[in-house]
Amino acid sequence: MPEPINQAQAMRYNRHIVLPQIDLEGQERLLNARVLIIGAGGLGCSAAQLLCASGVGTLTLVDDDHVEVTNLPRQVLFTDADVGQYKVAAAQQKLNQLNASCQIKTYSRRLDLTELASQAGAHNIVLDCTDNLSARLATNAACAVSRTPLVSGAAIRFEGQLFTTSYAPGTSCYECVSALTGNPDLSCTESGIFSPVVAIIGAQQALIAMQLIAGIGKPLLNTLQLFDALSGQWQQFIVPENPQCTVCQG
Ligand SMILES: [Zn+2]
Repeated sequence: MPEPINQAQAMRYNRHIVLPQIDLEGQERLLNARVLIIGAGGLGCSAAQLLCASGVGTLTLVDDDHVEVTNLPRQVLFTDADVGQYKVAAAQQKLNQLNASCQIKTYSRRLDLTELASQAGAHNIVLDCTDNLSARLATNAACAVSRTPLVSGAAIRFEGQLFTTSYAPGTSCYECVSALTGNPDLSCTESGIFSPVVAIIGAQQALIAMQLIAGIGKPLLNTLQLFDALSGQWQQFIVPENPQCTVCQG
């Protein structure tokens, strides 16, 4: 049974609750929600910080990396003192300080496909905040098993990318995107990344997750959104479902 909202929570989340689209009921849904975040880098830090502050009940963070000094300009949950620590451990500590009532669960290792699929099924939404194509495709395949909605984000250089799928009939998945775009696998280590881009894309991922949980607005499905930080413009590309897709078809 979902927990009803208490008086302290009603006060804390007042600025959400006064929004008629959210109201007590929407905030209650956020408080009882579980979000799985794959990747605790720049995108994951940005999304997790917003979801935790906004009162999402449970966040599960998955990342096997340690904090490096080159992460600090954009991975805003980490400080100099965290260098060398597991990212998920440092993030858990900061998020606990931000909002002690948000449950933070962590995995400081990679999950295999079976574990990933089982974790996806145990959460309301999955945010893909990883930095490589193979992890993005694996996360998509895992979410498809239980049809857990996936909000996939990516950022490199001055470019951001956003794609949401619900796995409902008629909707394309990240594998369909990949088949269409070819999606070269670039890394921020070699190519560089402009810090605000990860904050913007991570915040968008949090926004879409909260939309889906609270049942407000309409996230764009079948659409790849690209952000160009040099012009400040967003472009949208329709991604139809690929009838040959091995993940979302059949
Ligand atoms: Zn597909």
